[in-house]
Amino acid sequence: MASNNEQQNQAGRHQEVGHKSLLQSDELYQYILETSVYPTEPEPMKELRELTAKHPWNIMTSSADEGQFLNMLLKLMNAKNTMEIGVYTGYSLLATALALPDDGKILAMDINRENYELGLPVIQKAGVAHKIDFKEGPALPVLDQMVAEGKYHGTFDFIFVDADKDNYLNYHERLIELVKVGGVIGYDNTLWNGSVVAPPDAPLRKYVKYYRDFVMKLNKALPADPRIEICMLPVGDGITLCRRIK
Ligand code: SAM
Ligand code: CA
Repeated sequence: MASNNEQQNQAGRHQEVGHKSLLQSDELYQYILETSVYPTEPEPMKELRELTAKHPWNIMTSSADEGQFLNMLLKLMNAKNTMEIGVYTGYSLLATALALPDDGKILAMDINRENYELGLPVIQKAGVAHKIDFKEGPALPVLDQMVAEGKYHGTFDFIFVDADKDNYLNYHERLIELVKVGGVIGYDNTLWNGSVVAPPDAPLRKYVKYYRDFVMKLNKALPADPRIEICMLPVGDGITLCRRIK
């Protein structure tokens, strides 16, 4: 017979019926790409995705389904003033820029300008570069300054965080001031390659292992934060949406 503890543990687990993630197989993921994403992917997104695929660090790029998701989310929210931390070649940035109205704005930050400039011609050709204000350098000091200045408080509709995972909680403490009530912060890679449920001794790649603890700390902190409502989605490598409520 199951002990009380076991019964309690079981009670919190999903049930067989109705729980299943859609991504039961690679084929199913491929089906999503081929049925929903690729047939509707804007030409510049495709061009940037293919260009990025040739880059040695292409593992960093957002996936095409995530690009489609961000684009849809921003349109649903009528987002106008946004921020992105972690640009790389700009795939999620372009998904954002294409979703915003013509006078929309994205404050985009990355320590590496070179990769941004690789994708920039595609963004320019798409006619959305005027929405982007790119700042080269670490994001945290910029956020500190924005918080200190005061005039940026509660001004952002949407903020996408996709950079150094060991700083996500530091970002959160600043971003929660800068996003408006009702606005959304999206933290990317919160399922961290599935490693969040790997046993402690699992053979993980060094960088996966290093950042896993930070991601797990974030995943524990967000649901306990009374200033936000959250929703963790298994899109891409996991994205946690945080809606500021106070
Ligand atoms: N959002 C991008 C996309 O859709 O292709 C992917 C971003 S990539 C996963 C992470 C980026 O964060 C890298 O380009 C890296 O240079 C940048 N980064 C790392 N540390 C940073 C920091 N402290 N401040 C700003 N950007 C940083
Ligand atoms: Ca990412």
